[in-house]
Amino acid sequence: MKLLDGKQCAQTIKQQIAEEVTLLQAQAARLPKLALVLVGDREDSLSYVNSKAKNCTKLGMLCDTYHMAEQTSQEELLHLIGQLNADAAVDGILVQLPLPDHLDADLVLDAVDYRKDADGLHYVNLGLMLTGHHYVLPCTPNGILQLLKANDIPLKGKHAVVVGRSMLVGTPTAILLQQQHATVTQCHSRTTRLAAVCSQADIVVTATGVNQLLRPEDLKEGAVLVDVAMNHDEDGLCGDVYSKKTAPQLAERLSAMSPVPGGVGPMTIAMLMHNVLELYKKHR
Ligand code: NAP
Repeated sequence: MKLLDGKQCAQTIKQQIAEEVTLLQAQAARLPKLALVLVGDREDSLSYVNSKAKNCTKLGMLCDTYHMAEQTSQEELLHLIGQLNADAAVDGILVQLPLPDHLDADLVLDAVDYRKDADGLHYVNLGLMLTGHHYVLPCTPNGILQLLKANDIPLKGKHAVVVGRSMLVGTPTAILLQQQHATVTQCHSRTTRLAAVCSQADIVVTATGVNQLLRPEDLKEGAVLVDVAMNHDEDGLCGDVYSKKTAPQLAERLSAMSPVPGGVGPMTIAMLMHNVLELYKKHR
């Protein structure tokens, strides 16, 4: 069984980014810059933003954090985004979600210039991805794809089942896998006989947030599992299928699997860093 080690794979990607940035520094070129926008004081959001900022600076890129008060108005937030859109020194913009209830997240995200959309989730970028002419790809779905590729998991002609249909993970992942010539089945909360569908799959990607969504025996012998979820059980962090308890049985049954933690999570942040550098190159 091959462990799809996202931590190690992310490290390799980040190392390549750091090397490219070092070259830019040597040329005394302008450096890639990410603007992080945080509204309010949610502890989890604060820690995500800090981690993104830390990653950016560790790779030699620039990062400005705009921490706005909880009661910031829609107009004030849109005004800041307008300024960042117009700022030639800013290559990527990321608005940390969730936003406080009084703010319209869709309106705010749509206001970001798609050419500075570090998350790759702007509707223009999703549309471009759909047509196969991507500008920048969504971080978690691209992270899943890169993790599979780095581990030489064949996709062409394989039956992949993606469980989840959010625009953040499930749907873009299904599109990317199909573009790699996998035959993709997409499931969601109304899917009947989920286990039976998954038992047919060569590759199962789960992104639901439901603990114990499937049992190890619901997966085909020799299948590949990519567990995207970040759930909790009595042993700590776990996925939809992967947990401390199921890991030994999964290891015996599958040909490859991503652990939780240490699987898709680190890939998401590596892809964000990748996007900042990509946007910079296009911007320049
Ligand atoms: P989401 O927006 O809540 O979407 C969950 C999806 O799962 C929905 O499409 C839902 O179906 C489906 N679903 C729910 N219960 C189901 C069931 N019993 N059977 C089959 N499908 C079911 O969540 P998300 O933002 O996509 O995130 C999914 C998970 O991935 C979460 O655990 C999140 O924390 C994790 N995540 C991890 C990373 C990372 O970097 N590792 C990044 C993003 C998200 P309906 O559409 O029918 O409601």
